[in-house]
Amino acid sequence: MNEMKLSQRLQKVADYIPEQSVLADIGSDHAYLPCYAVKNGIARAAIAGEVVEGPYLSAVQQVQKSELESFVSVRKGDGLQVLEKGEAGCITIAGMGGALIAKILEQGKDRLSGKERLVLQPNIHAMHIRKWLLQYEWELKDEEILEEDGKIYEILVAEKGNPTEPYQHIGLEAGMLLGPFLAKEKNEVFLKKWTHELKHWSSIIEKLNEGTLNEDNLAKKQELEHRISIVRESAL
Ligand code: SAM
Repeated sequence: MNEMKLSQRLQKVADYIPEQSVLADIGSDHAYLPCYAVKNGIARAAIAGEVVEGPYLSAVQQVQKSELESFVSVRKGDGLQVLEKGEAGCITIAGMGGALIAKILEQGKDRLSGKERLVLQPNIHAMHIRKWLLQYEWELKDEEILEEDGKIYEILVAEKGNPTEPYQHIGLEAGMLLGPFLAKEKNEVFLKKWTHELKHWSSIIEKLNEGTLNEDNLAKKQELEHRISIVRESAL
């Protein structure tokens, strides 16, 4: 992967960046995504935000190497704090856990004007993001699930709107867990993911049953059994 040829995962993220937008890529690491978006005329300008020194320096180097200093601003800082409110029309946050992405959104919500498109790509636990979007009235507009190099990734696209709209057909609880668009489409990767999760949860329950069931373990078991019933009913 480089700034000319993205991984399939980042390419899918790039496909959701609106034409001619100002992009902010938060947790940019190597800055491949903002460089690619500007080089290919998708974004007219970009900001690469990075909190850790090493990846920040590699973003700076990448932008210099691509001769994009006039178009891609590399900023060191935590989450959305590198942005002025409303500065970016599209914000991408990719390659992290869902809980971290939700935390970045929560801590930086004062930097959001509400006019942005958010393109969020959690590696795991997308549910945390769906909950955050619902709480702050961002409407999921689309979702993708894909497998690359043996790993499964989800992409969530959101804009301000009616946050419950996409959940009409499935309900909030199942939709938060599975993804309302993904559960409607039920593609091969989606079925693989939830078949795997079912097996994993069942093996945890078996292990819990082998030991003494204290209050914590019992609550954990009941939670897993509840999730299994949601997956059986709405995913498979
Ligand atoms: N976005 C790139 C991608 O999808 O390939 C890089 C993903 S990399 C695994 C995650 C990056 O996010 C790391 O470089 C990490 O330092 C950065 N990061 C984590 N928390 C962050 C935060 N609160 N603010 C900015 N960057 C953050």
